[in-house]
Amino acid sequence: MSATLIDGKAFAARVRDKVADHVTRLREEHGIVPGLAVVLVGEDPASQVYVRSKGKQTVECGMASFEHKLDADTPEADLLALVAKLNADPEVHGILVQLPLPAHLDSDLVINSIDPAKDVDGFHISNVGLLGTGQKSMVPCTPLGCLMMLRDHHGSLSGMNAVVVGRSNIVGKPMAQLLLGESCTVTIAHSRTKDLPEVCRRADILVAAVGRPEMIPGDWVKPGATVIDVGINRIDAPEKGAGKTRLVGDVAFDGCAAVAGAITPVPGGVGPMTIACLLANTVTACCRANGLAEPE
Ligand code: NDP
Repeated sequence: MSATLIDGKAFAARVRDKVADHVTRLREEHGIVPGLAVVLVGEDPASQVYVRSKGKQTVECGMASFEHKLDADTPEADLLALVAKLNADPEVHGILVQLPLPAHLDSDLVINSIDPAKDVDGFHISNVGLLGTGQKSMVPCTPLGCLMMLRDHHGSLSGMNAVVVGRSNIVGKPMAQLLLGESCTVTIAHSRTKDLPEVCRRADILVAAVGRPEMIPGDWVKPGATVIDVGINRIDAPEKGAGKTRLVGDVAFDGCAAVAGAITPVPGGVGPMTIACLLANTVTACCRANGLAEPE
């Protein structure tokens, strides 16, 4: 491997330390405790793991965590009523409704019922519009984490060619907006993109957010490029024993690391940064709600 490993786990720990410091100051100087409410509908195993982890890290940073677990068949009106209650609760500064929601619930309707000022996931249509027009907003956590690692590694990203593979509302599109905001020349690729290998080879910054295990091989990567692997895919790992699995990203790590200048691993790259940014967004929302200076 010739690429520098971008250690998201260590970076996330530093972000959490800063969040914890800010939380301490808010409590000691202003008597305010930032609060994050997480709503989980149903029993999706991956979502349960995420929600547990978010709650644990929220408390470890000194913030208040409010978990709301609802049955999978919860009527939409009940979920909307809960969101309305959290919107009105002064102890709740951030609200996150864990996606995906069960099929009978309208995700757009639910997300857009969250007070945009408390929308720490940055998925509310108002925040999407603010980000798209370069105004102050709540920025989605996963792309924000990617951007923080890129800025830390490169300093200025101005003028770089960035290719984002994936155009989802939660990762690909906001990632492209953020890179555009950094004055990158941005290409968004997707399942209909023609000659994807060639498009990827033009990238100084290649962000993979596809959801296909190890789809991007080393010969799609420009020598020296920075590769950010957002993908989290669980695949069989017979080498670890019968029935065992392991996590891989959307890029073939060994092949890409041999060519890239820098690369994030999976696990230990983008994943830990996502929750750290959620905590940071909650503190930001709390500061804005109280008219106080935001963390940098
Ligand atoms: P989506 O399924 O919503 O979007 C996937 C995107 O990839 C789509 O735009 C799709 O194109 C594109 N795509 C699919 N197949 C191809 C292909 N063969 N060639 C080019 N593009 C393709 O996924 P998400 O954005 O929600 O997530 C992407 C990955 O990131 C997943 O592995 C997910 O688990 C992971 N993830 C990780 C997070 C973290 O914290 N690290 C957080 C969120 C997600 P089209 O639009 O044309 O269908």
